[in-house]
Amino acid sequence: MQKNITGHDKQKRILSAAVKNNKLAHAYLFTGRDGVGKKTLALEFARLVNCENPDYQNFRACAVCVSCVKQTQGLNPDILLVQAEKNSIKREQIAELLNSNSLSSIFNKYKFVIIDEAGKLSREAVPMLLKTIEEPLERRVFILVEANPALLLNTIRSRCQTVKFGPLTLAQVKEFLLAKEEPIEDANIIEYGVRVSDGSVAKALELTGVKALELRAAIFTMLEAYYKNRLLLEVKAVKKNFENVTAVVTDYFSSFIYDVLKVKTGQGLICNVDKEELVKKYAQLLPLENIMTMLSEIDASRSVISRNRILNQDLVLNNILVKGDIRNG
Ligand SMILES: [Zn+2]
Repeated sequence: MQKNITGHDKQKRILSAAVKNNKLAHAYLFTGRDGVGKKTLALEFARLVNCENPDYQNFRACAVCVSCVKQTQGLNPDILLVQAEKNSIKREQIAELLNSNSLSSIFNKYKFVIIDEAGKLSREAVPMLLKTIEEPLERRVFILVEANPALLLNTIRSRCQTVKFGPLTLAQVKEFLLAKEEPIEDANIIEYGVRVSDGSVAKALELTGVKALELRAAIFTMLEAYYKNRLLLEVKAVKKNFENVTAVVTDYFSSFIYDVLKVKTGQGLICNVDKEELVKKYAQLLPLENIMTMLSEIDASRSVISRNRILNQDLVLNNILVKGDIRNG
């Protein structure tokens, strides 16, 4: 069980007040950027409302009552979580939810149906869900979680009470990283995760995971090698580590080149605190204009990846590194 998510005090107060005043909406839409804890908070809320000894002041369930224990085991029949299978929430999933589960509370408290990434509801699943939301039932609450509400049909959105979540503060992201079950040993990497997170715990975790850090190390070996001898061929062995250019690869490049920009302009704290020397070298090498070109090349690569297109690695490296390098002019 993950640690309680910190922050979002206003949202917690709104939700707690609704329970106390018996004014819970039949359906909520939790929105706000990815990785700030929307789904975690939806689950925590469901757990709190069904807890036998709830602490609304601290937004904390007791963890020992029957409902809490069942929820920790993922077996609480009153707290259902629906997630996309193969990138879509299918009609059959919603049908199964409506057929096999009693949609009233088993323990005579509240029934929660949490639909994660609700924007992935398939065209066929939407009408079924809509019909159910439209027939409000006492003490049954739908929570739709979606970073981008534009992905939801208006007919669904308009039936939900929207709760908007802002980014976490960097201190909150740091607290979260420090409390991880498998802690990150290197203080520089924690600092990197915090600064690169943009207030998103998911982003921080993604870029400080063990596998991802191997990739980061490979990219830096390459950046070092490229600085020294300029020839991409000579770093071929390193490139093997990331034959597919993924969003994570572009994130690493982007945070590095932004660091170079920060040093160049003397503004802002760099993210790659452990690579300050190399950041400075590149800042000295590259004119501002070239740095800007590199950043826009990275953005272009990222937008291609977001459309699920495969990128040619050599082309990307050529665009990001070689084109921007004044020594090749
Ligand atoms: Zn409890």
